[in-house]
Amino acid sequence: MNEKKFRICVYIVLFILVIVFFTKDFNLFSDFYKNIKPVKHPERLDALVNKNYRLEEDYMPSDLEEVDIEFSHEHKYLRHDAKIAFEKMATIAKKEGYQIVLVSAYRSYSYQEELYNYYVKTSGKNYADRCSARPGHSEHQTGLALDIMGENGDYNRFEDTKEFEWMQKHAHEYGFILRYPSDGYDITGFKYEPWHYRYVGIELATYLTNKKITLDEYYFKKYGK
Ligand SMILES: [Zn+2]
Repeated sequence: MNEKKFRICVYIVLFILVIVFFTKDFNLFSDFYKNIKPVKHPERLDALVNKNYRLEEDYMPSDLEEVDIEFSHEHKYLRHDAKIAFEKMATIAKKEGYQIVLVSAYRSYSYQEELYNYYVKTSGKNYADRCSARPGHSEHQTGLALDIMGENGDYNRFEDTKEFEWMQKHAHEYGFILRYPSDGYDITGFKYEPWHYRYVGIELATYLTNKKITLDEYYFKKYGK
């Protein structure tokens, strides 16, 4: 191969890389929001709700309970088991000098719809799909997901807090997992969210944390895609 041909090849490869890099963000090559299936057993602790598994509009967990206001920004609801586990975790963290505060918990389909539409209206659909979930596709609707903040009072900067470090070590001991890890976008469809945790029970949370795999990967292996 002469120098000219070599240079053309390099340009072609670079061109392809640039295209792949930019389109990745806009889901052109991904399966997100394509081939959508219903969530069959939303009440199960390992229920998978993501950009391809959708909850019914009228799905609302039957055992929602209000979380102790001591650990919550305002009135928030979680399913019974998740609420008990969260309060236990926040109580123990507090005793050790860490302030874990609930910012968002159960969200209804209609609330998620409002939230998603707000992002679409203010920042466009691509942005909305990157930072939010379409209605029916948010696991906040399961009553098992929660967003938290720490001492700096800003969930967006939760990663900078000592509470985040504490959660890294202890969340699984109470049945919670960091649902959207920094390197998980291609699998979960969501960018890194250090503030978002999901209750799956102690056994599964410990397993996923030790194995360093996402709930999506576990689910696909167990039940198929
Ligand atoms: Zn969240």
